[in-house]
This record gives sequence, structure tokens and C-alpha cells, in this order.
Amino acid sequence: MKRSRKVIIISFASIALISQPLVSQAVVTVDPGNKISAGKTIIGSGQNLPTLNSSEPWNIGSEAKDQVMAYYSNGSVASDRKDLVNSATSWTRMWLKETCGSVKPVVVRNCKAAAVFDIDDTLFSSYNVASTNTPAFSYNPERSEIAESTCQLPPIKATRKLLKNFQSWGLDIFLITGRSESERSTTIDCLNSAGISGWRNLVMREPEDKRLASVYKAIARKAIENTGTKIGPSIGDQVSDMSYGHLGRGFLMPNLTYFIP
Ligand SMILES: [Mg+2]
Repeated sequence: MKRSRKVIIISFASIALISQPLVSQAVVTVDPGNKISAGKTIIGSGQNLPTLNSSEPWNIGSEAKDQVMAYYSNGSVASDRKDLVNSATSWTRMWLKETCGSVKPVVVRNCKAAAVFDIDDTLFSSYNVASTNTPAFSYNPERSEIAESTCQLPPIKATRKLLKNFQSWGLDIFLITGRSESERSTTIDCLNSAGISGWRNLVMREPEDKRLASVYKAIARKAIENTGTKIGPSIGDQVSDMSYGHLGRGFLMPNLTYFIP
């Protein structure tokens, strides 16, 4: 996944926020502004910093390294992921009843109901790479690309289980990633080795695609809808995984370490 090398200095407001104890929070509605949300609800953990409507990418860098590491090691990230997965599970059941009239897999399949997942820091965690960069949590594209292509990013079990549950319910799974088409075969190998298979389509960026992730991903979801598929949940670690509509509800997994507009 390509990210800008630009490092935005974290804002004073964000430093104030992150200087608070990073403990697990109940799931909350996050508000990136109506233009971005397109009126669709986004459910998150409240841990994604600094602002959710920035037009610039950023990496948190090493200033708050200790707090970030504590969040990832003291059970908080696992707790927030679990809460979000539970929220996505219950909402999607309700959505299937409303949209398809039933949650029976045969009905759901005929109804062409689908869920969208992002890959990086949604299904695979880059934490081990980011936390051991120099400085910690800076962005090192060479290290990231090696880790992606050699399947060094471990699966995030909570979201993998959610994906498999959705499949068992009859939902089609679409993967929309910022990774380049040039990484297709290695990405599929890594998905397979992590036990993630049976998805309907893997949407990847063309190498020359310079659009914002939020725009690229919204247009990809629109193309899926244009085939008659109904998208319910979109699960990602960035608001750009669920901006500008073409989904039922966004579920924002916690990611303290970087932001992609
Ligand atoms: Mg991601």
C-alpha cells in the first residue's frame, strides 16, 4: 500500500488527546463531516487521530510511542476491535432482514448482499513493522512493501472471523485495497495463507492512479453497486474506506498510527 512520504506534524489538539490514557472505549459514532460521510453513519472506537476530515496523510511518528504501544499491548486494541466486530455483526443482521427480508443464506445470496473489507490494518496488521521502524511509527515504504510481499503482516483475527461469518451468512465479500495491481499475486498468496478465501473480487489500484483513497474506494463501491449488488457494511481502518456513500454503514477499526485521506 502506497502512502505519502510526507509526515504531518501532529496537531496540538491531537497531542492533547493522545496524552490522555489510551484505554479501550465503547464504540461511538464518528463524524468526519457530512460531505465525507454522505449522510451515512460511521461507527468507530474514537481512537483514530487526529482529525477524520484532514486532506493530508500523516504518520503519528515516535512522539507518542509509549502510549501507542501500551494501547496495542494492554488489551485495548483487542477490546475495541471486538466491540466494533460485535457492532458490525448485529447491525448487518438487522440490515439483511430489512434489505433481503431474511437472514437465510439462500435468500441473502439471491438478494446480492455484500460486505466490503479493506486489507491493510483491517485484515492484516502492520503494527509489528511500524513499531520497529526507525523512528518508531514513521513510514518506511521499502520495509512496508517487503512485509506485504512476503506475508509478514499477521492477520487480525477479529476481522477475519467477521469476514468468515459474513460469508457463512451468504454475503459476497469484496476487498478494496490501496495496494497496487502489481501486488496482486503476492496479496492473494498472503490472503490464502491467512485462510481468507472465497471472496468475490479484489479491487486494487492501477499504478498510475493518483486519486485520494476516499475517492478511489467510493468509485469502486459504486461500480460494485452498478452490478446490482447491495453493499451493507464497509469495514476499514480509515474513514477513506467508508467516505462518500455507496454503503450501508461504515465500521472504523482502530488505527492510531497513520491517516490516509
Ligand atoms: Mg487500511
